[in-house]
Amino acid sequence: MRERSDTMLELRNIHKKFGELEVLKGVDIAVEKGDIVVILGPSGSGKTTLLRCINFLERADEGSLHFDEIQTEFSKASKKDINAVRKKSAFVFQNYGLFDNKTVLDNVTEGLIVGRKVPKKEAIEAAIRALEKVGLSDRLAYYPSQLSGGQQQRVGIARALAVNPDVILFDEPTSALDPELVGEVLQVIRKLAEEGTTMVIVTHEMTFAKEVANRVIFMDQGVIVEEGAPEAIFGNPKEARTRGFLQRIL
Ligand code: ADP
Repeated sequence: MRERSDTMLELRNIHKKFGELEVLKGVDIAVEKGDIVVILGPSGSGKTTLLRCINFLERADEGSLHFDEIQTEFSKASKKDINAVRKKSAFVFQNYGLFDNKTVLDNVTEGLIVGRKVPKKEAIEAAIRALEKVGLSDRLAYYPSQLSGGQQQRVGIARALAVNPDVILFDEPTSALDPELVGEVLQVIRKLAEEGTTMVIVTHEMTFAKEVANRVIFMDQGVIVEEGAPEAIFGNPKEARTRGFLQRIL
């Protein structure tokens, strides 16, 4: 068992229902600083819901959250707890989640200026640094519709980076992209991995998962079936459900 002091973020016994459908059935997940946790599993197994519960895009019905100094039951989380968690985390959406009527620069500064009350000049500087990291500092005045899907997702990643979060949550960041555009986005995430960025990534890109993850979680039907180092999960999965999934997908 890990010492609590090593753990930056920990969710315990997470339950979530949508109506009668129980999507998460008692999930535990812990993330240490510098971890790159990849969550795999069949469609509908609850991966996205788990990721969304981490930063309160969905409210878990049951379970507890510990994120640095924040410690709360999900059912009792205050506005202050929720805001504190959202300040420490950033979410990269499957469909980019950009404002179509705002430029690239405004998309990236928005969260800083409106969400975090950062002065405009500082926000612009931070946004440009983030856009440089994803190779798009020459597209500041473009609108999302003038960019490829891969470029739009790189703006989505720049927006996450600009707020300097403790953890970035990626929800199938390449699944909306045409195959030829997947590589440029994965390349950006690889670079973040090399720099030690803490990330939790839901993906179906197995080669990428093998390469960047230091821990892989396999989910099925609302529970974590198996968890371990990528070599163990991909090379020698212990559970029949994990083996079946990998055989189907690889
Ligand atoms: P995954 O990411 O593994 O594909 P999801 O977490 O997206 O799984 O979804 C798990 C299940 O919860 C699916 O059956 C999905 O249809 C359902 N679900 C997800 N979000 C909602 C929602 N907002 N309302 C109702 N059902 C939902």
